[in-house]
Amino acid sequence: MPHCSDCGSLLDVGYEWDRLPVPSSLREFEARWGLRNSPNDFSGVWRFRELLPFAPEEKIVTIGEGQTILQKSAAVAQYVGIDEKSLFLQYEGLNPSGSFKDNGMTAASTHANMVGAKLAACASTGNTSASLAVFASTARLFDVVVFVGSGKIAYGKLSQALDYGAKTLQIQGDFDDALSQVRDVCKKRGIYLCNSVNPFRLEGQKAIMYRVLEGLGWDVPDWIVVPGGNLGNSSAFGKAFLELKQLGLIDRVPRLAVINAAGANTLYRLYEQQQVKWNAGNFDRNVIEDFYTEMDGENRRARTLATAIEINRPVNLAKCLRALDVCDGVVRQVSDQEILDAKAQVGGGGFGCEPASGASVAGARLLQREGVISKSDRVVCILTGHQLKDPTATVAYHSSDENQTDESLHLAGVEQAPYANQPQVVENDFEKIMDVLHQFG
Ligand SMILES: *Cc1c(COP(=O)(O)O)cnc(C)c1O
Repeated sequence: MPHCSDCGSLLDVGYEWDRLPVPSSLREFEARWGLRNSPNDFSGVWRFRELLPFAPEEKIVTIGEGQTILQKSAAVAQYVGIDEKSLFLQYEGLNPSGSFKDNGMTAASTHANMVGAKLAACASTGNTSASLAVFASTARLFDVVVFVGSGKIAYGKLSQALDYGAKTLQIQGDFDDALSQVRDVCKKRGIYLCNSVNPFRLEGQKAIMYRVLEGLGWDVPDWIVVPGGNLGNSSAFGKAFLELKQLGLIDRVPRLAVINAAGANTLYRLYEQQQVKWNAGNFDRNVIEDFYTEMDGENRRARTLATAIEINRPVNLAKCLRALDVCDGVVRQVSDQEILDAKAQVGGGGFGCEPASGASVAGARLLQREGVISKSDRVVCILTGHQLKDPTATVAYHSSDENQTDESLHLAGVEQAPYANQPQVVENDFEKIMDVLHQFG
């Protein structure tokens, strides 16, 4: 399903806008906010349905996704190094399954419903499976089988797939292996594939940008900063802005910063180091081929504590190049140390996030230090997943000494925990407890 039979590239959803009813102003969507008894209006994705008009209303599968907010955080702004009133955090972890993936999964589930799919599948580093599983368990339109790699999946995520009743296959390999297998299996068995190779998922994820604009009173920010894994999100964001500009609903597009983990930096290497650019669709495929051939030759595998972005071959690479072109984008890489430090700042100054999400804040900080982002720029960091997704990484960080990390972090190359909030061990004794409380002042 997701590939062009002529050129083999991923399919892309296009609309004949001049034959469709498009509102004259984005403000018109706000009127639907109050209609809480109408699920398609309440949804943070489908209340914008004229901007993703591929589904008849009665086929829409919604579970109340997209009730997420744009927040300011003085503490995080200070950490990033920009004005307090200019930094915004978009908490996509507040979705029903705890990650932004629900924005896309409502759209893929809707399309699965349109084509009458009875079985859907995905490969996942954890959040895609959690999202697909909750759509299956609540909508009860199709069964689900999820493929996860062994070992690396965070417990919060695995527990969701199991609890929501998804058939779960732990493939003895990494995410890229699981994805490659699920693609073959779906093709052979006619199973509906819900990875972000599915172009409808990206349609739903455009809504994250509509809500960011809504949160800013329909003003366009200067920067959107997002972690990059399989590059579905960044691709969707670029498409959203391209379309809004074409429709005359915004007058300019923000710049886009996609942040890789240094241990999973395919996009960074190709875009920034090897200068692979969109080039009106004629991007240099040979450079990419050579890159992957070398990667396989050296058996170089992605490795980062931010497991949601631990990806070797981002499937949406081409669409992301288009997004970077539309949004005059930049790509940066940040270390696991920077990711976990930024994550601790988001926790200490806000609602928290999972490691991969910390990459956006770490990336914004890096770009500010480089002078690419200026102190007065309005910057929106996308926090892709909920704080509770990966308690292991969080507890390991906070259990560490400032200069000596927990063994699991140390092994992963994270040497320090400057923002650790260690639990203090106290004897089971009233006076001792009182003594400790005195130290707090
Ligand atoms: C999936 C995921 C990402 C990566 O998003 P892509 O669209 O694959 O680039 C980042 N953070 C979290 C929490 C995720 O679940």
